Amino acid sequence: MTASRVLVLNSGSSSVKYQLLDMADRSRLAAGLVERIGEETSRLVHEPLAGAGGGRREQTGPIADHDAALKAVAAELAADGLGLDSPELAAVGHRVVHGGTRFTRPTVIDDEVLAEIRALVPLAPLHNPANVTGIEVARHLRADIPQVAVFDTAFHSTIPDHAAQYAIDAATAARYSVRRYGFHGTSHAYVSRAAAALLGKAPEEVNVIVLHLGNGASASAVRGGVCVDTSMGLTPLEGLVMGTRSGDLDPAVIFHLARVGGMSVDEIDSLLNKKSGLLGMCGDNDMREVLRRAGEGDEAARTAFATYIHRLKKYIGAYTAVLGRVDAVVFTAGVGENAAPVREAAVAGLEELGLVLDREANAVRSGEARLISPASARVAVAVVPTDEELEIATQAYELVTR
Ligand code: ADP
Repeated sequence: MTASRVLVLNSGSSSVKYQLLDMADRSRLAAGLVERIGEETSRLVHEPLAGAGGGRREQTGPIADHDAALKAVAAELAADGLGLDSPELAAVGHRVVHGGTRFTRPTVIDDEVLAEIRALVPLAPLHNPANVTGIEVARHLRADIPQVAVFDTAFHSTIPDHAAQYAIDAATAARYSVRRYGFHGTSHAYVSRAAAALLGKAPEEVNVIVLHLGNGASASAVRGGVCVDTSMGLTPLEGLVMGTRSGDLDPAVIFHLARVGGMSVDEIDSLLNKKSGLLGMCGDNDMREVLRRAGEGDEAARTAFATYIHRLKKYIGAYTAVLGRVDAVVFTAGVGENAAPVREAAVAGLEELGLVLDREANAVRSGEARLISPASARVAVAVVPTDEELEIATQAYELVTR
């Protein structure tokens, strides 16, 4: 029996999301999450899939730390006959947010790699520490199988210097590793490849603009399967309007808030990352609420929606210019996959760029990859559900079985 299962772990500061996949047929055996780790009201939701074990289970009660969280997950999996001590487990794949310039591909984690991921914490203080904790706990649990890091930044490592560098003093930039790294790379990689497949082409044959619109949002320009630009930068703050992040703004806004508003760097950081975007403009970060309120004529929600769409259009235009020829514009993630009004508004008026929507196809709700432009359109518009867990499992499995 060859081991073909991969456990995918996405560890956040107070949460762990997981999926167990069988790479023999790319099926999902179980999925779940632990949230509010470290609080009294921690919650574990576990769902065995593909006919395995019992039904969906939920438990609340204190889970002290990531170690306890992963042990609780292991117990749930064991109860379904999917124990992590199984010889069928081939690897654990870890989502790691920041790989800096050092990590451009999935990497088997040893002590040295772990130290390097830790050294990248200053670039991703909100994310890498939790990723490191998840790796440490999983290594402890199964020291005998490979632990693989799959980096959110890796797919963007091909972005040329002229798109990656900020136009600032070169010595200062080098000293502090200031450049554009980009994020959501696992999703952009998966979706751009799936979009090529939807068009019946190889990734090398097509140029694609991917719009990953979740609570965080980013755009990328992918030429022949290779990423050449993306909207997030040194951190996930740059680019599109997001649920709670501002995206692009004049950096002088920060000086102004500090000098005139008397705000500290931490206060401004929190303002721009957590209290801006849709939430900041209208009080709701969930696009469903924004759409509902805008539909009722709520002025703040309408303006927030218009601002979100305006930014999206600017990136579609910019990446059309970057790519020269565009074969497809692809929507993905929570908003991109589900919000037909966002897709409609984003491409409205862009006929000159070859973008036309089939309104009926756009209105269909589906979990499948699909075209939402007429067959005659010069540029295909598509919806492709992202699957970061499958992509992480695939990359990890390929690495350890090669
Ligand atoms: P995350 O960035 O947290 O991974 P997701 O990709 O899951 O986010 O997207 C979550 C967001 O998707 C929610 O905040 C919500 O705004 C949006 N969303 C989900 N379903 C819908 C829907 N039917 N219509 C509009 N927006 C939706």
